[in-house]
Amino acid sequence: MIKIKIRFLGGCDGIGKSAVLLDNTVLDYGLQTSKEDPFPLKADCDHAIISHGHLDHCGAVPALKGVSDIYMTAPTGDFMRLLAEDTIRLNEKWKNRMIYSMEDLTMAMAKIRNVSYEEPFFIGDQRCTLINAGHIVGSSSILVEGDIDIFYSSDVNTIDTKMAEGAKDFPHADVGIVESTYFGTNHSPREELEEKFADSVKETIEKRGNVIIPCFAINRTQEILIMLEEKGISPFLDGMGVEATKIILGHPEFAKDPSALKKAFDNATLVNRKNRREVFSEPSVIVTTAGMMNGGPVINYLKKIYKDPKSKLILTGYQVEGTNGRMVMEKGLIRLNKDIVKIENDVEQYDFSSHSGDKELKEMAKDLSDKGATLFFTIHGEREKNEAFSAWIREEIGCDANAPNTGDTYTIS
Ligand SMILES: [Zn+2]
Repeated sequence: MIKIKIRFLGGCDGIGKSAVLLDNTVLDYGLQTSKEDPFPLKADCDHAIISHGHLDHCGAVPALKGVSDIYMTAPTGDFMRLLAEDTIRLNEKWKNRMIYSMEDLTMAMAKIRNVSYEEPFFIGDQRCTLINAGHIVGSSSILVEGDIDIFYSSDVNTIDTKMAEGAKDFPHADVGIVESTYFGTNHSPREELEEKFADSVKETIEKRGNVIIPCFAINRTQEILIMLEEKGISPFLDGMGVEATKIILGHPEFAKDPSALKKAFDNATLVNRKNRREVFSEPSVIVTTAGMMNGGPVINYLKKIYKDPKSKLILTGYQVEGTNGRMVMEKGLIRLNKDIVKIENDVEQYDFSSHSGDKELKEMAKDLSDKGATLFFTIHGEREKNEAFSAWIREEIGCDANAPNTGDTYTIS
């Protein structure tokens, strides 16, 4: 009898440490640094396929010491190295428990097999394909075809953004393992949001204030640079976003519009030791890490202007509970190193999401079902969202659907 075993190793309750074991292959192996145990459950397997270069999907790969090969797109490999090096450096700095070493990372990098979209490769009898997921540069959904065909959406976006073409067409599969991050929430139209954002930046500059834009290094920083360049605004750029931009420019075939990014990057002033003091010498815009303000150069910039009511802080992504960004949004307070202070700046948040919203998630499930999927697993969302998406699939499209818990194993025949 034909059987496939699916074991959920992490990422079933909220966002973080994603990992799904399919027989002898693990799909993603992410890290959740905010948790006491940052790793997913142990993956006993020989192969790995990694969907994209975000910490919660690739951050624990150096700990996969037993695998013989790790498949991913070329930009994902470079992002993985950037994030893992930063993780090692931060652990050293804060004297945290080391979770893997530079040696582990070097060994993992040597096992990477770069593959492009729609370029099938074989793991045993299983034919595997990476499909553009539209989430960030180089991001993929993963199709594993064998006796039973499995589609793993990973983080997916069917809407075009400045950096990535939306995911276009979903393939035939028997089983769909899909994300539910934004189930129940629709995003505002992108162009409207971009317009509002640019107007807000301009207004602050005109009033002789400064604008601080904390951004995730990978993908979000580059989107923001392009948005600013299109409106004739020249920002300063500091932090890990510089390196991430260089990585993307090194893989132009994966970026939606590499020349727009190159122009936007050239338009930005990179902050270095010499010009750091000049950043606030006149009204200016600074794009910097970390996106949730739990560290990074953004803290030093905030220290200088948090008392200035003319200046503005613009958040550009989701702020996870327990982060500085969340505290600013909820209480108007921020931790600047040891002190928690009241922030006097205007604070705004824009939902430049790189995930499908409710409407697009439902369309994806329908499309997969039309093409033959009869069983779904919903993961990568708060528990109630995973469960609600599964319930919707059962009720609205009549397929079997489950919201698994971490550690659950399903044998499918
Ligand atoms: Zn992601």
